Amino acid sequence: MAVITFAHVRYGSRDSCVAAFQRALMAKGFAIAAGATGYYGEQTKAACAAFQRAQGWRGAGADGVPGAKTFAGLGFANGARSGGAAGRVASPVQGREVTYPYGVRNSRYAAGFHTGDDYAAPAGTPVVAVRGGTIAWSNGEGGAYGQWIGLRADNGRDYVYCHLATRSVEAGARVSAGQRIGEVGDSGATTGPHLHLEDRPHGGGYGEVRRPSW
Ligand SMILES: [Zn+2]
Repeated sequence: MAVITFAHVRYGSRDSCVAAFQRALMAKGFAIAAGATGYYGEQTKAACAAFQRAQGWRGAGADGVPGAKTFAGLGFANGARSGGAAGRVASPVQGREVTYPYGVRNSRYAAGFHTGDDYAAPAGTPVVAVRGGTIAWSNGEGGAYGQWIGLRADNGRDYVYCHLATRSVEAGARVSAGQRIGEVGDSGATTGPHLHLEDRPHGGGYGEVRRPSW
């Protein structure tokens, strides 16, 4: 089930969650002439109302303002449920587990230990935001980390995605938990395609890390 932040999907707002909502409406056959613009205007309100009427809802239930039933009917879970697991994903690489953990001591690392968790996966496997937040950086200037992305998450921590093959978000973009932000690769210094994910609780640089959690 796709995860969006319900509070971001409201009339007049402009957000990546709105774009996901629009794509879901169109996929169900409810046309939005301007497409998935990310802006919730009259066209989106009309498409939402048509979807609601098609469910047999009437009155306030078909006013073009989405509620929990509308989101559920379109296949969305709420990424902003406080304290729950819905605002996070199980893994930054869907279906993959850690293949080489944080903390392993090895002098080949400048910090003397492995500063993140590795997820080995074929090049091109999607990587997703572990939580909602804002992209702090996205560029090819990671040095040994190659193509990298920094996600400043809604819990105040920076999650650093390294060795990517491609990046699909730019600095400043708002992202939802589970949103695809790039692909696993082997850019920078690696021995094969994998995601190296760091958790920097106070921002900061190399080695200012903790065992990743989110
Ligand atoms: Zn690593």
